[in-house]
Amino acid sequence: MAGAKHDNGEFKTRTEVETLKTLSLGVQDLLNSEEGETAEWSLDLAVAELFPDLKVKSRLKGNLQALRTADGLILIVREAELKVQSTCVRCAEAADLTLKLKDATREFLEHWNESEEEAFPIDLERLEVDLSEFVRQELYLVLPELIYCKPKCKGVCDQCGQNLNRGTCHCQKAANQEENPFQKLKDMLKEQ
Ligand SMILES: [Zn+2]
Ligand SMILES: [Zn+2]
Repeated sequence: MAGAKHDNGEFKTRTEVETLKTLSLGVQDLLNSEEGETAEWSLDLAVAELFPDLKVKSRLKGNLQALRTADGLILIVREAELKVQSTCVRCAEAADLTLKLKDATREFLEHWNESEEEAFPIDLERLEVDLSEFVRQELYLVLPELIYCKPKCKGVCDQCGQNLNRGTCHCQKAANQEENPFQKLKDMLKEQ
């Protein structure tokens, strides 16, 4: 994983890129290289343990680039995808989604201290960086706050629990008929 030579500051695309399969990335070569050197990996990571509240359905696949700086490294996940399954907030059925990262960038420092909240440390004893927290934070950032099984999920009936995506229930029909126009007016006045 020697730092790839680069021309005009552009990352050079190489035909053979090493695949990174663990969340610890060895950075010895890069640390020994000069400022401005770059390296590239393709990512094929098992990240399920980082997301205890989600069902992770694929490996994190994508590519990672690194740039040697004066005080450490800048790591960039150029593009990556992870398939997960969560629960629809309306109907409580399974909801599949693909989390996508694009140009997620973080600094890793040789002399890190706790005040540098945006950056992560480089383990100078092992000469590696732990990508876990970087990857975890970036994926949570692209996770939607409200997850639906489909954009127009109709939810469930609050009376009988019928999944309204699969058809209406009797309570709904009854409610529509019994709807009191004066109650509606009262509710409107209350809201003001
Ligand atoms: Zn739903
Ligand atoms: Zn119902």
